[in-house]
Amino acid sequence: MTFKITPIGGVDQIGSNMLLLEGPNGHSVIDCGILFPFEDFFNINYLIPNFTQIPRPDHIFITHGHEDHIGALAHLCEHFPDLHIIAPPFAATLIKNKFEFYPRKLKYKLEVLTYDETYTSAGLEFDYVQVNHSIPDTYGIHITQPKTGQGAFYVSDFKVDPKAILEPYFDFKKLQSLRSQLSESLLMADSTNITSSQHKTTSETELIPGFNDIFNSNYKRVFVTTFSSNIHRMINIIQTSMQANRKVILYGRSVKNYFQAAMDNNLIPEGIKVFDIDEVNQKTDLLTVIVSGCQGDFRSTFRRIAFNQDSYFKLNESDCFVLSSKSIPGNEKKISLCLNQIALQHCPVITASDMLIHASGHAGKTDLETLFSNYNPDIFIPIHGESFFLERHQKWVETLRGKYNSKLLTEVIHNHDTFDFELKKVTTNENAEDLAPLIIHGNALEFDRENIKERRKISDAGLVSIVINKDGVLKHDIFMTGITLPSTHDQDRCNEHISKLIKKNHKKNKDHSEQIRIEVRRYLFQIIGEKPIVRVTYL
Ligand SMILES: [Zn+2]
Repeated sequence: MTFKITPIGGVDQIGSNMLLLEGPNGHSVIDCGILFPFEDFFNINYLIPNFTQIPRPDHIFITHGHEDHIGALAHLCEHFPDLHIIAPPFAATLIKNKFEFYPRKLKYKLEVLTYDETYTSAGLEFDYVQVNHSIPDTYGIHITQPKTGQGAFYVSDFKVDPKAILEPYFDFKKLQSLRSQLSESLLMADSTNITSSQHKTTSETELIPGFNDIFNSNYKRVFVTTFSSNIHRMINIIQTSMQANRKVILYGRSVKNYFQAAMDNNLIPEGIKVFDIDEVNQKTDLLTVIVSGCQGDFRSTFRRIAFNQDSYFKLNESDCFVLSSKSIPGNEKKISLCLNQIALQHCPVITASDMLIHASGHAGKTDLETLFSNYNPDIFIPIHGESFFLERHQKWVETLRGKYNSKLLTEVIHNHDTFDFELKKVTTNENAEDLAPLIIHGNALEFDRENIKERRKISDAGLVSIVINKDGVLKHDIFMTGITLPSTHDQDRCNEHISKLIKKNHKKNKDHSEQIRIEVRRYLFQIIGEKPIVRVTYL
């Protein structure tokens, strides 16, 4: 056989990236990330790919350290103890740090990749290819079936950045060399920016003039929030601040943790200096404060400062707040709430719509075509995107057919479907509906999907609890949560009315909870116009 690929996550969605490969001698996996919860998932931590039905993989290869590529790895290690992980150095540090805080002990083998090594797994050969992205140490993975001379390049997150100064340029030389050994090839590539009107993705280096302008302005303190994992952005912010005689403070757990992980991997250039809060004088020093939480999450440092709830930093009109980031779809409201609060404190705000201070980590069409021309695949499958993006990507690649490969085959596949390279055929998984992402909450525990409905009902209309003793009388006043009655007398009226209902329904040794539940819901609907969840307990 050649090999088969099955996305377990990462298509028809942005997040929970995970690809299963079946080779002649077994299985391998690439990445295992989380999906951030939708707004109506009620305080759920995250979702993970449903890998409960997959066979044990020989290895898992990690492309880079973003949460949507490593965030679910601990769960996979719990499912398959002693799993052998191969990861880039920076991602390996982040994985180790994450595993330390996992609520349960994990058994695993973590190997840091050697760039020039070819790894053998499941009867296939795996080679790492350096790419550019928005976190250091990002790679695409090349797969070769040595017996048939067929292969694939999997590159879920990348851009092409010839101006990069803090990381090596996309290693097209290695990619071309791997491609030249194949008789037939498949490309699976990033669809994130396929709909973007900006075709050439901005380089991190191009942001430096904007930062220079801001840090050389008269602002006493400049607060900057960005994605904490974007180490190169952080370095550029620190260096331009230092050149403008500013002292830099890292503020918030996430920026500090990522910076420390970057230090541990020698990714921070010599001469870079950051200060602790107690090492600076807020009255006399010019400051740059790099703040965690650019998505405005509820407990984030960004939100705390914006809402004037931080004990140390209070914004005023001599400061400036810079958003060197963009909103992840779904977070727009949270961010605009923060911006409004900053405006109320008369602090000027600069966003990426005002100046060139944010660059995407994903390929625009120009970058995608550069990749396409360097690899020249026979088969193309779009990945890392919602359904609409995948369709668009497929259609656009088909327009390249005449230019590069007249026999090019394109396919869109869905999570849990399998593409058989030998047969050039997609097999649909009939049980895909039962393999929806797993919901994780609390201490990294799985949450029953059905219970989301219960949470929704409670949040929609509140909860009423009624406890009845064996004589058929209320044990104590009915308990209501999340319900506002029209007046204070209504609580007494409710108690009285419900007591009567219970008496009316009471017959010795009989449980009438269902009847009472229905009648209470009906009664409350007359008063408040909503039907809360009602729980009736007989003691
Ligand atoms: Zn990424």
